[in-house]
Amino acid sequence: MAQLIDGKRISAEIKDEVKARVSAMKAEGKSVCLAVILVGEDPASKVYVGNKKKACEYTGIESLSYELPAETTEEELLGLIHKLNADDKVNGILVQFPLPIHIDAKKVINAISPLKDVDGFHPVNTGAMLNGDAGFLPCTPAGIIELLKRSDVDIEGKECVVIGRSNIVGKPMSVLLLRENGTVTITHSRTKDLKEVCKRADILVAAIGRPKFINSEYIKEGAVVIDVGIHRMENGKLCGDVDFDDVEPHVSAISPVPGGVGPMTIAMLMKNCADSAEM
Ligand code: NAD
Repeated sequence: MAQLIDGKRISAEIKDEVKARVSAMKAEGKSVCLAVILVGEDPASKVYVGNKKKACEYTGIESLSYELPAETTEEELLGLIHKLNADDKVNGILVQFPLPIHIDAKKVINAISPLKDVDGFHPVNTGAMLNGDAGFLPCTPAGIIELLKRSDVDIEGKECVVIGRSNIVGKPMSVLLLRENGTVTITHSRTKDLKEVCKRADILVAAIGRPKFINSEYIKEGAVVIDVGIHRMENGKLCGDVDFDDVEPHVSAISPVPGGVGPMTIAMLMKNCADSAEM
């Protein structure tokens, strides 16, 4: 039977580490504060923001919540970000995406101070990641590296195949695997013969956004599979980009959905906030 890569357990471990660091900072009179901005009424975004606030409460990080109406102008949002950039009490600024279409997401990302960019999306931080310099790493791919390391999966020298090239998952994932000395292939919607490429993978990361797309035909026997996708099925249950039941008998380790990558993203956000306060 495959090893289950347990994101619930590992994310709890990381949050406990953050909690201890925050408590040590508090003992020295230093607080940690995350500002969370939500624009509009997107129900999924509200759930994500709620989960981030809960994680803040657990770790002892103070959270400032800005829930703005969907009609908020780009100028107003940028004004709030500038105010939070200048506020010494605030260590991290998180803008929940997606934003309403009249707001330019790139402008918003670029407006956040790189020193408070706990999502790791600012070009200064993505550039630092590419160069192997210190900076905030994007939470989902950084969480996947932690999942692999803390599950004793060796990355060095392994054939790593990433499916998806988005700025928040696929691209940074491939850079972080490369930083761990993996031999990395990035695949996407225009890749020819995706199955053959995936079958080379010792470590396969699926970030496609299509429910149960990856079945056993994409898998090399004994591979490690990380499933980033999150989808709500008609029966109300969650599933990933990987057809878990079909793939599991063929792999040495696999992350489930739910309970795999999902909880890691928030845990890494908490870690980035603690890092920011310590910096
Ligand atoms: P995206 O839509 O921005 O990117 C999807 C990528 O998949 C694209 O680069 C595209 O080229 C590739 N793709 C699409 N169809 C393909 C095909 N047929 N063959 C090969 N490649 C194909 O999505 P994203 O933001 O990167 O998210 C991917 C998934 O991960 C989604 O299900 C999303 O909900 C989930 N996600 C989860 C977390 C988490 O915390 N667990 C965080 C971010 C995203």
